[in-house]
Amino acid sequence: LFVQAAIAAGEAIALDKAQANYLGNVLRLSSGDGVLIFNGRDGEWLARVEQGGRRVAGLMPEKQTRPQPPGSDLLCLFAPLKHARLDYMVQKAVEMGASVLAPVLTRRTQVSRVNLERMEANAVEAAEQCGILAIPAVREPARLDDALARLEPGRLLVFCDEGAPVANAVAALAQAREEGAHAGIAVLIGPEGGFDEAERDLILARPDTVRLSLGPRILRADTAAVAALAVVQAVLGD
Ligand code: SAM
Repeated sequence: LFVQAAIAAGEAIALDKAQANYLGNVLRLSSGDGVLIFNGRDGEWLARVEQGGRRVAGLMPEKQTRPQPPGSDLLCLFAPLKHARLDYMVQKAVEMGASVLAPVLTRRTQVSRVNLERMEANAVEAAEQCGILAIPAVREPARLDDALARLEPGRLLVFCDEGAPVANAVAALAQAREEGAHAGIAVLIGPEGGFDEAERDLILARPDTVRLSLGPRILRADTAAVAALAVVQAVLGD
């Protein structure tokens, strides 16, 4: 369970209504039952349920079960999608180990407003679901040129490009791994209408860009994001 508060042995943590309801009425936990909690900073802790009357009132951290691991360093840059598909993309990107979720506005991006709170809630839920102790950062939407300029020199940019030669992708990533010189990885997925020529030129002008083909089919952007992160994790992940 994700909590906002600092976690320390013997220091009670208050729960909001939704969390108290979830523990008491959905999971049917009661006084003394154990729950694993994390806050993205203090590792994972075993905490005991404390009741106030018939309701779950709070949690009492007992002992740390896992220290805070070093965070992963995998950026996911994507043109934002609508509602349910954005929810899906965020959840799956977090499950696949993305540490930063960065919406990128492109010429053919159809969504101009992004609900960052909803993205954060989805990221937390996905982290809870798969035991990731570091909550991924959600960035404000940025224009493609600004997002590219913000990438550190040396960071490998895996450009999901439906026009890339199919066979080269994994080999190109493996070669990047052999060279071992890259400072972190970013994956870039375009909007439903794809990138235009000027945008492609901008992306390819970056020296640390690798084109990744995900096969000879045009995938939906949310599918492409999950597939690309899976390939990156398989070839470059630890
Ligand atoms: N421009 C395309 C068109 O209209 O024919 C469609 C773009 S696709 C729906 C959305 C994004 O998913 C692309 O910009 C690309 O980043 C990624 N993508 C989809 N299929 C892919 C593939 N086979 N290989 C690599 N990336 C792919």
